[in-house]
Amino acid sequence: VTNRYQAVRGMNDFMPADTAIWQAVERELLACLAGYGYREIRMPLVERSHLFARSLGDTSDVVGKEMYSFEDRADREGKAESLSLRPEGTASCVRAVIESGMLRNGPQRLWYAGPMFRRERPQKGRYRQFHQFGVEAFGIGTPDVDIELIQLCATFWQRLGVADSLRLELNSLGSNAAREQYREILVIYFSGCRDQLDENSLRRLDENPLRILDSKNPDLADIIANAPRLDEHLDAESAEHFAAVRAGLDHLGIAYTLNPRLVRGLDYYNRTVFEWKTDRLGAQDAVCSGGRYDGLVAELGGQDTPASGFALGMERLLALLDDDFTAQAETAATPHVYLIIGNESLRNAAATTAEQIRDKMRALRLLAHCGGGSFKAQFKRADRSGAQLAVILGDDEAEQGSLTLKPLRGQGEQQTLPIEAALTEIARLVDLQQS
Ligand code: ATP
Ligand code: MG
Repeated sequence: VTNRYQAVRGMNDFMPADTAIWQAVERELLACLAGYGYREIRMPLVERSHLFARSLGDTSDVVGKEMYSFEDRADREGKAESLSLRPEGTASCVRAVIESGMLRNGPQRLWYAGPMFRRERPQKGRYRQFHQFGVEAFGIGTPDVDIELIQLCATFWQRLGVADSLRLELNSLGSNAAREQYREILVIYFSGCRDQLDENSLRRLDENPLRILDSKNPDLADIIANAPRLDEHLDAESAEHFAAVRAGLDHLGIAYTLNPRLVRGLDYYNRTVFEWKTDRLGAQDAVCSGGRYDGLVAELGGQDTPASGFALGMERLLALLDDDFTAQAETAATPHVYLIIGNESLRNAAATTAEQIRDKMRALRLLAHCGGGSFKAQFKRADRSGAQLAVILGDDEAEQGSLTLKPLRGQGEQQTLPIEAALTEIARLVDLQQS
């Protein structure tokens, strides 16, 4: 029996145990991004469909098959237009920076985070609403910023403790002109073995032959392995740019493998492209992908502006975290203190006390008991909350202006102290630095 109030397939809820981990990851990512001087931009979840068709390419899988598009209702002038839930962030980000005029102020380093929508077949690591962190650098055409972006990724992985699970693949797509030439060479090559291509690849042969190189069909592996290589058809400037990127990564000690068949699925890429992959998630092995897209700003009506960026898939990244990280994240979301209240008549006094404690220690997580009940019932709740310490306000305490502190885990004596001393003791007992 299907329940008609189930969530849409491929669109997930995240419960507090999950969001604790998401927040811990986000904290690390935000700290890294700030450390590199990247600033947040927020774009709408919905854009004109045309924006994605124009930037990702009509023949990309995303635009061709995966977009959630709908006809908006006609406005007063009677015009209805096709809108889409964003399948990725780069196109919206480019639109937003053009529209705001901010590119006139020189290079911009930006990031965004949030849900993306693609109508794919849901499976582990592949959802219809998924979440990306995207990072984009505008106005810098030199290899240094490509290196910086990859270095930023490497820093992410280090801070999150997943560096060992990820490896970097690198390629250069060359200039648009060189890629056009290479495209023709590929069409000739693959046309020669038309009878061996699958249906998907036949379609791509006309529309987007580079994408055949990206095919996951094992029957095509040999044909693809023998195809003319893009790196042998690079223009001189792109070759030089690519050599500089590689030298920069070598200098930083960031390991990579060259993958001449890494083409990326979206039309806007040129020159450097990269993907961080894992062996731990089966077929969904791409965790983070990006590259240069020097033509896109002009393509969407802005001043000719070089750009480079990447997007990482949060669900796939989270799947790589180790138990230490997730345990620590859960601790960081657990209350330190549970406030137990002697009886109903102390309700208002308890609210004041709770506020006094919170105000003194802004990083403290204090859960004040609500809903009445016996001491025993409240202690049970306190224990279940995971708090380290129970703070008790009973009749005696209220009368004396004191509080009773009772450690809930491990050793430690129960003690009753005047309020000021109690505050100091709470700060000493719960380690605010550690979690
Ligand atoms: P794939 O080859 O797995 O389909 P992609 O090339 O379509 O990935 P991008 O458009 O480059 O992916 O998006 C960047 C990242 O977003 C990916 O590396 C991946 O981690 C994540 N991602 C993409 N699509 C999905 C999805 N449907 N569900 C979960 N994560 C996704
Ligand atoms: Mg995809």
